[in-house]
Formats: sequence, C-alpha cells, structure tokens
Amino acid sequence: MGRSILIIEDNEQNRYLVTFLLERHGYIVHSAIDGMQGIDVARASSPDLILLDIQLPAMDGYAVARALRQITGLDAVPIVAVTSYAMPGDRERAIAAGCTGYIEKPIDPTTFVSTIELAFAPRTAVTL
Ligand code: MN
Repeated sequence: MGRSILIIEDNEQNRYLVTFLLERHGYIVHSAIDGMQGIDVARASSPDLILLDIQLPAMDGYAVARALRQITGLDAVPIVAVTSYAMPGDRERAIAAGCTGYIEKPIDPTTFVSTIELAFAPRTAVTL
C-alpha cells in the first residue's frame, strides 16, 4: 500500500492540483478544507505526511500545526507548511509551530512531488 498524505487546504483549485499530482505518483490522498476538519482527518487517517496551508479560515496553519503536535501518534509526522506569503520570518514561524518543511505557492507541478518527498526524512527541518 502506498504512503498517505493529508492535504489541509481551503482553496479548491490548489486541493485539486495537489491531489492530482500526488495520486498520479501513487500516494493515497486525504483532504480537509479547514484546520478543525484537518485535525479530525489526521486523527482518523494517521497520514505519513501532512501538507498544511498556512492561510486557512478560522484557525490558521500555525495553530493547526501546534494542535497536531499535541496529538499522540502525530507528534512526529512530517508537516510541510504551504504558504503564499513571502514574508521574512514565515519559515521560522512555521518551524517554531512544529512544521518540518516549508514550501511557497504557487505550486510548480513539475517539481512539486519530488520536493515534497524530501520532507519524508524524519525530524529534519528543511527549506523546500
Ligand atoms: Mn488558503
């Protein structure tokens, strides 16, 4: 069975693109449209990696990452922050919240999957 990835992303087009790219590479994809749903799906599906949009309604990605890190069994799962902000300090903020990687939008379909796969190395904070 392939590895599973959870996408927490409120933008339908981005969700569709990421799902398409990952499924084409054999991943099992779960998705959620906001942080609360994302936490529920993460608990239920125990994904091998989480792609976490930072700009989410109600509960932002930083808060979601902090919450995920409190959950037994999800405390070590790689979490890759995805953001369209290009603000100084965002990467550090994502890492401080518990993310293990960071990628900026727009997503490049030609490099996206290979970039994400770098994040499977456990507990290594990397700029992707
Ligand atoms: Mn968003």
